[in-house]
Amino acid sequence: MPPVIDLNECIGCGKCVDVCSEDVFFGTKDFGKSIEHKPVVTYPEVCWHCNLCVKACPVAGAIRLRIPLAMSVAYKDGPLGNS
Ligand code: SF4
Ligand code: SF4
Repeated sequence: MPPVIDLNECIGCGKCVDVCSEDVFFGTKDFGKSIEHKPVVTYPEVCWHCNLCVKACPVAGAIRLRIPLAMSVAYKDGPLGNS
């Protein structure tokens, strides 16, 4: 499942946008400029569950990803990544 951002926890640092190699957050405007500009999950279907956005996030719980069970064996932290 694509990432889900908790807008109450997210501080708008934009690290998840920077680290994503796909267009998941495409079109996110002015992220990192202020706390009001938060990432937008624009193309969730292109997420390939690499978990890098979760790992890059400095706020525990601000971004979550449900990794498909078949892929979760590749993540030693378990299917929720930063939990
Ligand atoms: S899991 Fe990977 S591909 Fe999916 S949004 Fe995060 S960084 Fe992008
Ligand atoms: S890395 Fe985390 S805190 Fe920073 S913009 Fe993304 S979800 Fe928000």
